[in-house]
Amino acid sequence: MQEYVTDAIVLATFPRGEADRVADLYTKDLGRIEARMIGGRKPLSKLAPHLDVLGFATVRLVEKNQFTLVDAMSAPLTPKSRAPERFEKMLEIASLVRALAPKGIRDERLWETLRRAQTEGELRALSEILEILGYNARHASCETCGETPVGYFFLPTHEFFCARCGSKLPESEVVLLEEVQ
Ligand SMILES: [Zn+2]
Repeated sequence: MQEYVTDAIVLATFPRGEADRVADLYTKDLGRIEARMIGGRKPLSKLAPHLDVLGFATVRLVEKNQFTLVDAMSAPLTPKSRAPERFEKMLEIASLVRALAPKGIRDERLWETLRRAQTEGELRALSEILEILGYNARHASCETCGETPVGYFFLPTHEFFCARCGSKLPESEVVLLEEVQ
């Protein structure tokens, strides 16, 4: 059994079983992890209020086969990070990280980018987040027709497509890279 204290950004939380919740966290020291919150679905859970989606928190974790969240102390969201249009964009970034970041791999650059996005409202373009995750739109050409620049990233296959070919892909599975069009 090992214990960790690290800073984290909450990418998502979801119910597990009757009473528990699971938090998908991007942490400074451990990279992306899933941590179980025992009793996290109960109204009086002491952890739940500290784990708002996109919130920034210092978490205490115990690892034994899996991670369990034993304590969390959240930092209040700044007015900047609370602005609706930023929140929207930050959600897109979080879902991209959830779709592409492997678990258990620490990435200082990704952590810093997420931290600054959340605490200082310094949002990066989705193409930059993709690049940090290892997918460089600038050097990519369309998977179907070979055109550049690309305008879409297709999540199921991790491939780039131009604006024309990409517009035919299912909307829920593509990332629109408006900034490189
Ligand atoms: Zn194309």
